Amino acid sequence: MGASPDNSGMKTLFAALALGASVVSAAPADPIVPGRDYHSYADVSAFRVKHLDLDVEASFADKRLSGVADLTVTRVAADATQLTLDTRDLGIRQVWWRKDAATLVPLRFQLGARDSMLGSPLHIEVPAEAGRPEFTVRISYQTRPQASGLQWVDAALTAGKTHPFLFTQSQAIHARSWIPLQDSPQVRLTYNATVHVPKDMRAVMSAQPLDDNNGALAADGVYRFEMPQAIPSYLIALGVGKLEFRATGPRTGVYAESSIVDAAAREFSETEQMIQVSEKLFGPYRWGRYDLLILPPSFPFGGMENPRLSFITPTVIAGDRSLTALIAHELAHSWSGNLVTNATWRDLWLNEGFTVYLQGRIMRAVYGDAREAMEETLDLATLRGELAELPPHDQVLAIDLRNRDPDDAFTQVPYIKGALFVSWLGSRFGVEPVDQFLHDYFDHFQFQSIATEQFRAYLEANLLPRKPGAVTARELDEWMLAPGLPKYAVLPHSDAFELVDSARRDWLAGKLPVSGLPAKQWTTHEWVHFVDGLPKQVPAAKLAELDAAYQLTATGNSEVAFSWLRVAIRNEYAPAWPRLDSYLTSIGRRKLIKPLYEDLMKTPAGAERARAIYARARANYHPIAVNTLDAIVR
Ligand SMILES: [Zn+2]
Repeated sequence: MGASPDNSGMKTLFAALALGASVVSAAPADPIVPGRDYHSYADVSAFRVKHLDLDVEASFADKRLSGVADLTVTRVAADATQLTLDTRDLGIRQVWWRKDAATLVPLRFQLGARDSMLGSPLHIEVPAEAGRPEFTVRISYQTRPQASGLQWVDAALTAGKTHPFLFTQSQAIHARSWIPLQDSPQVRLTYNATVHVPKDMRAVMSAQPLDDNNGALAADGVYRFEMPQAIPSYLIALGVGKLEFRATGPRTGVYAESSIVDAAAREFSETEQMIQVSEKLFGPYRWGRYDLLILPPSFPFGGMENPRLSFITPTVIAGDRSLTALIAHELAHSWSGNLVTNATWRDLWLNEGFTVYLQGRIMRAVYGDAREAMEETLDLATLRGELAELPPHDQVLAIDLRNRDPDDAFTQVPYIKGALFVSWLGSRFGVEPVDQFLHDYFDHFQFQSIATEQFRAYLEANLLPRKPGAVTARELDEWMLAPGLPKYAVLPHSDAFELVDSARRDWLAGKLPVSGLPAKQWTTHEWVHFVDGLPKQVPAAKLAELDAAYQLTATGNSEVAFSWLRVAIRNEYAPAWPRLDSYLTSIGRRKLIKPLYEDLMKTPAGAERARAIYARARANYHPIAVNTLDAIVR
C-alpha cells in the first residue's frame, strides 16, 4: 500500500535510530502536508459548509434514511463554481440552489466513481449568481441498507427484543454514508435536524432536543434538534429505538431500552461528579447537557463521544461501576476532541492521547490513586502487546495514513502512548502546571481543528518557557516521530498488582491452594491482571480448579470474561467453548472480539472454530467490525 514505507526507507530509519538520531520519519517519498486531509474529496479552499439543516425519515422496513439535506455554504474562493461533497453509497435524487424561501433552482450535479475507501465525490455546479459570501444548496437523497455509518439492528438483537434499533457511527469517515457533506474533521458546522421515526420509538441526536415532551414519546413520531455549536461531521449522530430516559443529575441522564435503563442509571450515577472534576481542572463544560445513550451490544466501540450524548456499549454495565473509566473517557472528549479537534486523522493522538490523560485525572479524583494506577498499568500492558506486533511506522504518534482507511489509526498508540507523553510532560513540569497548560490550550483553540504541528508550536511557546531545559527538542521529536516508547517515559505502577502477582506465583507453584487466593476482595482490575498474567501454558487441571472456585467461564463481567477466554483459547480449555460461542455471537465490540478471533486463528482447530462462529455472527456485527474481521477470519 502506498502509505507503507519501502524497505530502504525503513533501513534508513533504523540506521538513524542506531546512530542515536532522534528525528525519524517513516513517510513515503513525497512529504506529508501537515493539516491536509487526505480522506476527503472536499476542497476547503473553494467552499466551506457551515450549517446543515437535515430532514430525514427512518424506514426500518427498507433500512433506509430518506430526505433532504440543506447545506449553507461559504464561497471561500470568489471564482469557485464546483462544490465537491463526500458521499458513500448514497442515492442522490436531485440538487437545487435555494434562491429564496419559495424558490428552488435545479443544479447540475455528478456523482464520481466510487473509491472503496473514500466513497464517491458529489460534484455540484454552483453558478456565480448563487451568491457570496454564502448560499444554500438542497440535496434530496436516500441511504442504502449497507451504509457503513448506520447499523439497523434487528429487534431480536436488542435488550427488549420487541423493537429494532438504529444507530450511527460517523467517526472516522462514515458521516458521508448517511449525509452528503464535507466529511473532514477540519470543517465545523452547526446543525438542525428533523427526524421522522415509527410512532412508538424515540429519536435522539448529538444535539439539543427542541420539543419538550416531558420525557414522553412524540405522538407524531417527529423529533427536532438543534446543535448550536460548530462541530466536525464525525460528531453528527443519531439513535432510534424504544428508548426511555432516566435523569442521573441536573444535567446528566441515560437513554436506554426499558429493561436496562435503571441498571444503566445506577452504573453511571457518578457522571455529574465527573463533570465537576473536569470543569475544575480543564475549564467549563460548554455543551449544556451530558447524556448517555446505551446501545445494543453490536456497537463496535466502547463509546463514541458524540457531543451532549455519548454513545455507550452495554458491555460496561458490570453492576459494580468497575468499568466507568469509559464514561470518564467519553466525557473528557468534551474538551479534547470535541472542543479542540484533530484537523486530520493523522492527528488523532491530539484527540485520544489527551483524552486518556484527562480520563486518568478524572478517575484519580473520583476513585482514588490505587484504582487509577491499576487501570493505567493494564493500559500499558495492552499498549506493549500492540507495540510488539505493529510495524514501526504505525508506532508513531502522528501516523501516516495516506491511501489507508483512517479506521486503521485506532490502535493503542494514539491513546496510551499519547497519554504517556502528556504524563511525561507532567513529570518534567509538574502535574498542576501541565493541567493549567491544557486548560489554556482548550481555551485558546476552542471550536477549532488543529494539526500536530500547531500543537507543538503552542507547546513550545506556552509550556516550555516555564522551565527552560526541562525537555529538549530531541525528546519531543522522539515522542512524536519515533516508534516505540522512549526509555525515559514515566510508566505507571500498581502496588495492588504486585500482591496479585505474588499470589499467582504461589498458586502456580502449588504453595497456595486455590481457596487461599485473596480473591474475595479483588476488583475487576485485579482479576484481569491475574488472568492476563497467567503463563502461556497452564495445566488443564489448574484452569478447572480456578474456574470451579471463581466461575470465570460464567462471569458476567465482559472484561474478565475476555481475558479468561484468551487463556482458554491458547490452552484449548474445552469447558469454555459454549461461553466463547455465546460471547462472540452476542457482543460486537471490536476490542473484545478481534483478539479472540486472532487467537483462534493461530491453530488449525481454532481457525475452524473461528470460521464456524464467524459464519453465524457476521450478519449481526457492525460494518466496521466486519471490515476488520473479514481480514482476520479467512
Ligand atoms: Zn476516545
